[in-house]
Amino acid sequence: MSEVFEFFLIFHVAFPLLIFELPLIKRKFKFNRVALIVGSLLPDIIDKPLLFMNLGSGRGISHTILFILISFMILHLIVKKKTDISVLFLLGMVFHLILDLPEVPLFFPFISYEFILIEVPLELWLYTLFNDPTVYLTEIAGFLILIFILINNRLFNRKDIVNFLKRNTDSVTRQNTTEPFKN
Ligand SMILES: [Zn+2]
Repeated sequence: MSEVFEFFLIFHVAFPLLIFELPLIKRKFKFNRVALIVGSLLPDIIDKPLLFMNLGSGRGISHTILFILISFMILHLIVKKKTDISVLFLLGMVFHLILDLPEVPLFFPFISYEFILIEVPLELWLYTLFNDPTVYLTEIAGFLILIFILINNRLFNRKDIVNFLKRNTDSVTRQNTTEPFKN
């Protein structure tokens, strides 16, 4: 029963952020981490409230390839095709579905899946969070990853954190360091 309700909130954010700490990616690309974070949480932002309010499983809505493609295309147009936002949002959702595997109805509604309904979802989530080692150890790992990212990027005040989230500060710092030589 608890297996179907493993829900890793912190880890869902921490894992994609960690991937984007890889020097190979970080030095090369312009990207917006807010978009990555929103994408990495969106599937659960949509289905968990429905579940908690006993309105049914929203998994067939938000945990499908169809959903992530449509929401990516909508955002891509809204942000005027800025890929450092839209592609990062898409990657966040892709990471989310990968981390949720195998309990993901990827091809819904083209293929039918059995959705498990839980009578007391909020209680079960809190119960598994504190009693299921897979859940709490993963969440602790996620928390430690976030601390590592803060230290690794020397993010010790709010302004630096906001900058880090909005743009890839690695490329920004490089631009700043080259400026004096131009003058
Ligand atoms: Zn999920």
